[in-house]
Amino acid sequence: MIELENMYQCLGISPQVFNFGKKIETSLKERFEAIDARAEYNQMKVLKAMQENRVSDIHFAATTGYGYNDLGRDTLEQVYASVFHSESALVRPQLISGTHALHIALSGNLRPGDELLSPAGKPYDTLEEVIGIRDSVGSLKEYGVIYRQVDLLPDGTFDYENIRKAISQKTKLVTIQRSKGYDTRPTFSVKQIGELIAFVKNIKPDVICMVDNCYGEFVETIEPSDVGADMTVGSLIKNPGGGLAPIGGYIAGRKDCVDRASYRLSAPGLGKEVGASLGLNQSLFQGLFLAPTVVAGALKGAIFAANVYERLGFFVVPDSREERHDIIQAVSFGKPEALIAFCQGIQAAAPVDSFVSPEPWDMPGYDAPVIMAAGAFVQGSSIELSADGPLKPPYAAYFQGGLTWYHAKLGILMSLQKLMEEKIVTL
Ligand SMILES: *Cc1c(COP(=O)(O)O)cnc(C)c1O
Repeated sequence: MIELENMYQCLGISPQVFNFGKKIETSLKERFEAIDARAEYNQMKVLKAMQENRVSDIHFAATTGYGYNDLGRDTLEQVYASVFHSESALVRPQLISGTHALHIALSGNLRPGDELLSPAGKPYDTLEEVIGIRDSVGSLKEYGVIYRQVDLLPDGTFDYENIRKAISQKTKLVTIQRSKGYDTRPTFSVKQIGELIAFVKNIKPDVICMVDNCYGEFVETIEPSDVGADMTVGSLIKNPGGGLAPIGGYIAGRKDCVDRASYRLSAPGLGKEVGASLGLNQSLFQGLFLAPTVVAGALKGAIFAANVYERLGFFVVPDSREERHDIIQAVSFGKPEALIAFCQGIQAAAPVDSFVSPEPWDMPGYDAPVIMAAGAFVQGSSIELSADGPLKPPYAAYFQGGLTWYHAKLGILMSLQKLMEEKIVTL
């Protein structure tokens, strides 16, 4: 494969780095096969959903204005409902991000005086303001929703005893975040989430269980909706958009819950009947179609990165052997130069903006400068290869995505090349 090695060299990867990567890749053969097998299953699941709902090119036509009788939009929502084995789904470009979809699901289903419980510790940063954990204009707290939280036990498992105590007559909705996001706890498997839902429903059967599914879609062969979640929520510029969705979010679940969310998204009385798809349907269908293989590529990249950097002595979460439940990989570099070099390598490998060099900056809302690498087709898309990290100890980079495994691989090799050139690592 001297030809391939030469091509990598043209891109700036030295033979030393190439061969180091090759050895690691060879050692991962079995794990990659297991990922491919899951992707194959999920591809069939998506195809089955598209065939059952008779997807046709008429569904790719654009609607405008109110968007009444948008056949494509309605069919896309049925396809999502089939993939998630749920009664209904809301899949819209008007859901502008994961945070927005989660906000609509929560605010559509909670009423003043209701209690919202997070039994899995602190939720994702942006939800703090949605809920009102951090005071914020328009938060659920301002609307009289009471928030309770039960932290995880020190070993990262659910504190069932205190969860039981926290559930009261007023508990209306339980929110469970599947991915660790940018936290250090483990990500939950769908099976673990199912056990937690069963526990909660055993105490209070009518409680609504919502799962923040961001970064988790198609990593396993089942989704939270298969284990009792009443609403499963995520972003289309992460896993299920397959890199092609230019915007959007989804809520899949029980019909009454999804309907209530839809009345919040549009207006009471209007619900799902309005909302033009503006010509985006084809990208949303096609992105979903590609999502299982795209997620497989991102997973291979994450596992490859964990193995490369663990071998070099860095602390990686998840570690090199752990079973994966989302696509995020954290690597702690211990010093700022290393984090910066890593992100610059990821950027240099990108299809878009490879010629710019990211620098740390003081981002609003953060207590330390943040460095970000993203050479993406869609702004902020984190199913595309991207990395970021705050410049403070332990100088950890959070790395995710890659529309193809080969691109993820180049990104990691390039990051290693930069670390070598800066004399931070030696091979
Ligand atoms: C990304 C993410 C969100 C928020 O999604 P945005 O699209 O960035 O608003 C929420 N929860 C988790 C776990 C996430 O990873």
